[in-house]
Amino acid sequence: VAAVEGLTRRFGERTVLDRLDLEITRGEFIALLGRSGSGKSTLLRALAGLDDEAEGGLSVTGSVAVAFQEPRLVPWKRVHANVTLGLAVPDAKDRADAALAEVGLTERAGAWPLTLSGGEAQRASLARALVRDPDLLLLDEPFSALDALTRITIHQLVLHLWSVHRPAVLLVTHDVDEALLLADRVLVLDRGCIAHESAVPAPRPRHRDHPDLVSLRTTL
Ligand code: ATP
Ligand code: MG
Repeated sequence: VAAVEGLTRRFGERTVLDRLDLEITRGEFIALLGRSGSGKSTLLRALAGLDDEAEGGLSVTGSVAVAFQEPRLVPWKRVHANVTLGLAVPDAKDRADAALAEVGLTERAGAWPLTLSGGEAQRASLARALVRDPDLLLLDEPFSALDALTRITIHQLVLHLWSVHRPAVLLVTHDVDEALLLADRVLVLDRGCIAHESAVPAPRPRHRDHPDLVSLRTTL
């Protein structure tokens, strides 16, 4: 769904991305690790088409959606309106209803964003990304501000949504355990390019493979 070839991004004198190569295949789940300031968000912005100053080859086939670390909901629009924001399709309302149901927020659809808990806001942000039915879902540290229990719930949710919709996912995280838990492929960004890459060997320690969590997943 995406091919990056020799992508370079400079900010003044600093070269943050330096001839970076990356292929993203349909349906795969990638975790992107790297030190703070290594350029992870810069790469995601370029993939999302939000950066027109990156040089080099970048092609994305299909639609892209992003969920940022902080949910970035528009405070003066209710949750439902946030999910449909900018969605120019005739069935936007129904799709938003479905996406909110998938993330378990049907009851909060009419709420104001500032009245949501952190986990609810994060789920609203996921619904907003999912309603676009993306081929490539970019997640920039979306779980780091959540408490441990909510984080597990949202891991479950993301894995569930991934298994249903099958987008390629590129998840930025600082948490190695989270990367190994969720991803099929782990990349490390360093000095402007992918310095390390490994496939996560099966069987993976995923919560979703655990029978006790099957019921949790279906109630999400
Ligand atoms: P973190 O893990 O802390 O989120 P990151 O890997 O996402 O870090 P980026 O946000 O991509 O890092 O930033 C990479 C480098 O590029 C940083 O040194 C940052 O200061 C610089 N940078 C990013 N955006 C800009 C900008 N608009 N102008 C100047 N420098 C920038
Ligand atoms: Mg970042």
